[in-house]
Amino acid sequence: MEKQDIKSMTQEELRAFLVSLGEKPFRTAQIYQWMHEKLASSFDDMTNLSKVLRQKLQDACEYVSLEKVRVQISQIDGTRKYLFRLADGNVIESVLMRYKHGNSVCISSQVGCRMGCRFCASTLDGLERNLRPSEMLDQIYQIQRDTGERVSNVVVMGSGEPLDNYDNLIRFIHLLTEEGGLHISQRNVTVSTCGLVPKIRELADQGLTITLALSLHAPNDEVRKSLMPIARTYALKDVLAACHYYFEKTGRRMTFEYSLVQGVNDNLDEARELAALIQDQHGHVNLIPVNPIKERSYVQSGRKAIEAFKGCLESKGINVTIRREMGRDIDGACGQLRKSYMDKEQEKEGAAVK
Ligand code: SAH
Repeated sequence: MEKQDIKSMTQEELRAFLVSLGEKPFRTAQIYQWMHEKLASSFDDMTNLSKVLRQKLQDACEYVSLEKVRVQISQIDGTRKYLFRLADGNVIESVLMRYKHGNSVCISSQVGCRMGCRFCASTLDGLERNLRPSEMLDQIYQIQRDTGERVSNVVVMGSGEPLDNYDNLIRFIHLLTEEGGLHISQRNVTVSTCGLVPKIRELADQGLTITLALSLHAPNDEVRKSLMPIARTYALKDVLAACHYYFEKTGRRMTFEYSLVQGVNDNLDEARELAALIQDQHGHVNLIPVNPIKERSYVQSGRKAIEAFKGCLESKGINVTIRREMGRDIDGACGQLRKSYMDKEQEKEGAAVK
């Protein structure tokens, strides 16, 4: 029999599973609490279960627990970037950011990504596989255990396109936000998407109160197509209509992410065009100075250009923030740490073959 991914089970599924093993239903709350509240790293940690039961679980289940490979700590702001190894040997990265309002963890939703955004390091080698709910959760669990500090916000903005791993994402959100686990408020969870229109609409109908962030990055389809292949599939007017629908259904204001790339999307005409484009949307713009990756020649806009862009949007009544660059000194951009780790591993393998 294939081993069960026990950490991805809902409480109801866990109950049915335990009963199928011949166990009493009251064990459900105990075991669920060990996994999702006490953040046990193995069945052996579950000291109020008998040895026999622990062994039984061990035989029937896979207990997902990520292995910490490396932590990089920013000397500037204390941001911690983690590299974790999954059971199949793949590595993923997650980031802990410390803000005044609490600790925020940015998680990966896939190993790699198939969306192909030009400036993004996560997508350079394509998609390896989807992450399971347990593997998304455990990024947060490991970080909370490692620091001993409570995580209050979660952003699904690491490697991967979360809406391309939709069912696992929804299950992950339930496990993260419901009672019996970390019980993080859905309002403190943000999911960022490059704009998969049918999935944005499905998410709107899901009955969650999470925040949705759209990676916009351009004021029109032409510029967007040059940066994001997905723009060839979905026109901006359809993406924005889906965002409007999301707001109407959930009452949650959108975040529009706009990475500023010098000479590509950062002049004042483009700021005006952007303002007109999202005038009727309920949301705000988050400007991100593009984080250059060595595989591409994109250059960050200068401070002045960023401020001017911001000022222009504000003069049109748009709410704007400039994203603070957290952990600038530690391979900050999505997928950069994983990519540089894998490149080094490959070099080592190459050297070994020689
Ligand atoms: N697939 C999701 C989440 C990925 S990353 C999405 O597209 O939204 C989170 C954000 O960081 C996205 O807005 C993404 O476009 C942006 N991003 C990725 N690499 C970047 C880089 N090198 N510089 C600036 N922003 C980047």
